[in-house]
Amino acid sequence: MALIKCPSCAKDVSDQADTCPACGHPIKRGLLGRAGTERTFNIGCLVVVIVVLVLVVAGMCSTIVR
Ligand SMILES: [Zn+2]
Repeated sequence: MALIKCPSCAKDVSDQADTCPACGHPIKRGLLGRAGTERTFNIGCLVVVIVVLVLVVAGMCSTIVR
């Protein structure tokens, strides 16, 4: 982990953060250490999307069948 300067407000922000906690500016990660965290983050997002899709489809089926 390292601290980088926020391009918007110039505060120190963790390079693990997606957005600046001070001003909300999106943090573009450099070449350092983006392999592991992004992969985990994407899998988490994918699971959430799948769960939501299943719930939506189940809801649609129950309203259609009655
Ligand atoms: Zn900022």
